[in-house]
Amino acid sequence: MKVTLVNHPRPELSKLMRCYHRARKAIKAGKLNTTLDRLNKGLGLAMRKEYARPYQTTINACTCPDHARHPGQWCKHQLALALIVRATE
Ligand SMILES: [Zn+2]
Repeated sequence: MKVTLVNHPRPELSKLMRCYHRARKAIKAGKLNTTLDRLNKGLGLAMRKEYARPYQTTINACTCPDHARHPGQWCKHQLALALIVRATE
């Protein structure tokens, strides 16, 4: 079967979605300490490339209130950052 990307408007978006589905599986399997709700919000941020604003976000930490309330869990900003990093590798 011939596969073409000609009609795909944003190839980088499909990469993002592949990373998103991998993260979904990891959360359901208990391998990623966060919620599906946060992952969905993180995907939204990643698609808008606004994952950090107005917070300072790294893979290990984030200055947002949600991360302060749930230490050890991934917040939506960290998830967005991770999705973007993975999708551009
Ligand atoms: Zn955050």
